[in-house]
Amino acid sequence: MPVEKDSKEYIQEVFQAISTNDFDKLQDLYSQHAMSTEILDEHGMTPLQHAAYKGNEQIVRWLLHKGADVNSGKHKYQYTALHFAALSGNSVVCSLLLGAGAKSEVTNSVGRTASQMGAFVGNHNCVAVIGNYVPEEEVMCYTISESVDSEPQLPPVLGPLVHKFIMMTNIHPVKVALDIPPVFLIDDNASKIYKVLNVMCEREIQKQLETNEVMAFKFHYLATILIEIAKHNDMKGEKQSDPKEYFIKKILKSESYLEQFLKDAIRMFPYRDCTIFRQMVASLTRGKDSMSALNVVLVMIGNRRGMGVDSFGEDRVCGTCAETNATKKCAKCKAVQYCNRECQRIHWFVHKKECNRDANSGNIQTTIDSTHVAESLAELGVK
Ligand SMILES: [Zn+2]
Ligand SMILES: [Zn+2]
Repeated sequence: MPVEKDSKEYIQEVFQAISTNDFDKLQDLYSQHAMSTEILDEHGMTPLQHAAYKGNEQIVRWLLHKGADVNSGKHKYQYTALHFAALSGNSVVCSLLLGAGAKSEVTNSVGRTASQMGAFVGNHNCVAVIGNYVPEEEVMCYTISESVDSEPQLPPVLGPLVHKFIMMTNIHPVKVALDIPPVFLIDDNASKIYKVLNVMCEREIQKQLETNEVMAFKFHYLATILIEIAKHNDMKGEKQSDPKEYFIKKILKSESYLEQFLKDAIRMFPYRDCTIFRQMVASLTRGKDSMSALNVVLVMIGNRRGMGVDSFGEDRVCGTCAETNATKKCAKCKAVQYCNRECQRIHWFVHKKECNRDANSGNIQTTIDSTHVAESLAELGVK
């Protein structure tokens, strides 16, 4: 007869399974023994906190599904599951926890929020996800009609899509356009979303915090891009191109168009007394130290480094949409990177000129170099 282990040992095994990412073992333990998801290890950490620290998306999902409390735990330095997730570097885990109600304003024993801890270790993707998180009900409340015979401001089917759209972290205008779901451009959905985003913008301003000003501007900015694209959709042209692609190509083709479009978007922001608006205007009007409108938007609102400043850094930035970790290269010149074929396809009408030019100048460079090397060798008397 096998000797029964006491429950303490099973608890230890749970934490062991999580620390080795052994999902099967974890499931077995929970199916065979009656255990709470709120058990604590010797440091006061819950299984969810351990899984968050490991950045294990699968286990985090499973524990949340089992009803694990996202804000529980008695860690001695008062770290929450979200603190651990921000340290893990897995931004999907961060958004799962936020979606389950993790409170991002909670600080640990040294007064740091999860976002600050993420920034401290350089996990900027986690910082961006936390900073751009919007509780679902803040959008879904517009999908409920105020009376029996009135229409809701937002068709319910659009609710989750709008929620996802406003939480995007890369707000380069090309990326925004690419991420607009096709249904946003059907019927008068775009103008409905535009109105809701404007109301949400106003609400953020009323909260009177600087972080809310950033979100307020972001909502205004997303609304501006959406309505610009929808405008083309409404035009009764003889030859209709895809409205998103039409907008993206205009941006990629002409830097001055992009600059003007973004400057107008900033100028149209209705809340001119707020800090963020003043900072943006100041950055645009510093004479020779002025930033481009694109960089103002990316740096000040999008928590990003500017484009063109150091886009050759360790993050491989997509030549079309500025998404990081772009792994595909132009096969011909290898000088530009893309997220995927779609980004490369859209960029080709601009890139084909540079691509050929770079290839040619590259050839010339090699010729000069080899001639130069030959001359130098001759001078040295080496044959
Ligand atoms: Zn891309
Ligand atoms: Zn190329």
